[in-house]
Amino acid sequence: MIELTAVPSAQTQNRKVVLAIDDLHVWFELRRFGFGHVGDVKAVDGVSFEVHAAETIAIVGESGCGKSSLMKAILGLYKPTTGSIHFEGRDLSKLTAKEMHWYHSHVGYVQQDPYGALPPFMTVQKILEEPLIVGNVKDSKERIQRIRKAMDEVKLNPVDDFLPKFPHMLSGGQQQRVVIARAMIMEPRFLVADEPVSMLDASVRVEILKLLRGLQESHHLSVIYITHDLSTVSYFSERIFVMYAGNLVEKAPVRQLLDNPLHPYTVALLTGTSEPDARNAETFKEIPPGEPPSLVNPPSGCRFHPRCSKFMPGICDVKEPPEFEPEPGHLVACWLYEPKN
Ligand code: SF4
Repeated sequence: MIELTAVPSAQTQNRKVVLAIDDLHVWFELRRFGFGHVGDVKAVDGVSFEVHAAETIAIVGESGCGKSSLMKAILGLYKPTTGSIHFEGRDLSKLTAKEMHWYHSHVGYVQQDPYGALPPFMTVQKILEEPLIVGNVKDSKERIQRIRKAMDEVKLNPVDDFLPKFPHMLSGGQQQRVVIARAMIMEPRFLVADEPVSMLDASVRVEILKLLRGLQESHHLSVIYITHDLSTVSYFSERIFVMYAGNLVEKAPVRQLLDNPLHPYTVALLTGTSEPDARNAETFKEIPPGEPPSLVNPPSGCRFHPRCSKFMPGICDVKEPPEFEPEPGHLVACWLYEPKN
């Protein structure tokens, strides 16, 4: 059980929009030798949302739902097929290489696998110095001061002991602290954390989540926290977005979504067990039943309909549901919430 207190809900209306995503599609073309184009993998298919200054958002969903492709598009690693991503009012697709460099210096990235994310033949000092050199911090004394400050913040103490170490000499938790220090070293305004604790031992997960939350509060960071584990989101997020088959199917403030989930997929996720365990194998249920759909040929209408316990034939399998707002700030893409006139 994670021992952290929930993030207090905050009003976002008066806060500046930092990131604005509008009708984003990220598709990958499938080509077969001799036949040319045979289809598209619609990894992200019409996603829109905004992130405000100092706001934390969690994006949850099963593996293969498109959350990693969405994250890579936000980081500028994938180009949108259509739609747009604006950071502080600037359209990422229109940035020059130099401006993209500016963007990357304002966006930190915490990877899922800390060992894979760290170059094995570089010391902690070199790993943390690299972004400063690329970021044109010319004074070596300033670089070492900033490295020490970042290491102190992520509690890699005593700093002198860790500076000469290589990644393989560190525990998983210490490696993730180095990854977080590297993400923070350019003092970003925005952080993307991709399943930052899923590959760590249970004993260090709480510490890393507490560390991330402490950094978010002290640096007033906007954060997108990507996870498949709903048990941690209330400790790290103000709003939750639920993703299914390339779409966001429910968006709400964290307490509203956890206390009153509306979309049948969210309800199924919340009744599932986040950590299947051999000890509860007899009672463990596959939640929701069935496999996530193909992103090449997704089901017609609502993409969740082949797995949905509330499926309405002739409606759900015919037309894709738009977003309805059954209560203020709580959006859901499901025909059950179509207003009755
Ligand atoms: Fe289920 Fe229909 Fe709602 Fe889709 S639109 S989640 S199939 S009830």
